[in-house]
Amino acid sequence: MTHSEPVRPEHMALLFAYSCPHCGTEAVLISPTSPATITCKGCRNEFSIIPVDAQTVQFVETMLDDGRAAVNPSY
Ligand SMILES: [Zn+2]
Repeated sequence: MTHSEPVRPEHMALLFAYSCPHCGTEAVLISPTSPATITCKGCRNEFSIIPVDAQTVQFVETMLDDGRAAVNPSY
């Protein structure tokens, strides 16, 4: 059974792309707020990432009402 009304986003997340220093393949992470070592999917080498600031991420999510304020205005 399908619902007749299109559904609005309930939450949002920010993606951050890091380029592997060995081969350049991008690794996409959801708001990495802690330092971490990740394994590249391209070359399997490991590299450390600089984390993002949790308060900055929270600010953007709040500014967009957790995604609800980003809804296409024609809907
Ligand atoms: Zn790589």
